[in-house]
Amino acid sequence: MSLLGTVWSIFVGALHLFGLFSDSGSSHHAAPVVHQRGLFEVLISWMFRAFIAFAVMVVLGVIAWSLFKRWLFRTVTREIRGEFQPLVTRIREWLISQNVREEQPISRANSTTDYHTTETGCPICLIDPAEIPIQTNCGHVFCGQCITTYWQQGTWGTTGVKCPVCRQTVNLLMRDMRPGVSMPDDPDQVVAIEREIRKYNQRFSGEPRPLFDRIRDIPSILQHFSRNVSLGDAIGLLFRGRMLLYVVGVLAYFLMPFDLLPESFLGLFGLVDDLGGFMFLAAQVAAIWRTAVVNNQHGNGARGLNAAAGDGLLAAITNLAGNWAGAQQQQQQRQQRAR
Ligand SMILES: [Zn+2]
Ligand SMILES: [Zn+2]
Repeated sequence: MSLLGTVWSIFVGALHLFGLFSDSGSSHHAAPVVHQRGLFEVLISWMFRAFIAFAVMVVLGVIAWSLFKRWLFRTVTREIRGEFQPLVTRIREWLISQNVREEQPISRANSTTDYHTTETGCPICLIDPAEIPIQTNCGHVFCGQCITTYWQQGTWGTTGVKCPVCRQTVNLLMRDMRPGVSMPDDPDQVVAIEREIRKYNQRFSGEPRPLFDRIRDIPSILQHFSRNVSLGDAIGLLFRGRMLLYVVGVLAYFLMPFDLLPESFLGLFGLVDDLGGFMFLAAQVAAIWRTAVVNNQHGNGARGLNAAAGDGLLAAITNLAGNWAGAQQQQQQRQQRAR
């Protein structure tokens, strides 16, 4: 917020500099001068000012993009970090010795290094596309076999493995079940990997996590959601359980005549609170999808989506009322015990 405020004040300052934001007092004084100038001259000067303002916006946009791109989209890099390379090499050799994978020539990895893969490939075993593709909460893709072996053969703390590509703690493995993804011939192998993924998610998805990391997980969880849920199911989700309450609340705020940050007063900056409403809804969808993935036996939330989203509106209100009544009852009991 403070960064956004700084950028905004620089922007407004720049506009002041070029006279685009002139307060009413000075414009009254300036009016007779404008009358003396030709229309063409005025037009040219305004076009020049508009061009400068546009250029300032472009420069600020590029700066903001370069600052946030790596922060928000961690998938920009797809290379195994140095400290994880010994473990990854060991896993590659083990997979080859077990006849699970064949050795991959480096040229197939489309890079000069042995630890780099393409967007669809697995950075651990280097096959492309990955087999039983699993997307992590940090947005990186691995074969189901490779990421579970990475978990089992490495030494990890109680919070789960660290992503070998971006070092982020992995607490959610999401199976990509789009038609056409690469699958092994042996169905038993699929069942075994599904079991490991479910075990992993149930053990680590509830681990406490810093707020910043949770916010950074939202784009990749929503990406997985949008790839695995049909548009109809996604829209249907907005009408279920607490989601419906949130949607109605945010819509009511959009339509309300008064704003916490009104656009007429603050200009573009006034859109921040409305953007916040959208981001809140997006965060709720991501939270529901996370629950659906963790509870699903295939590691993909598409079939458990409605259960994770909750019941219809009536049941949601009944639940809220029930919780409130329960809390009241507990308080009464506590007071009675105190006497
Ligand atoms: Zn792999
Ligand atoms: Zn990662």
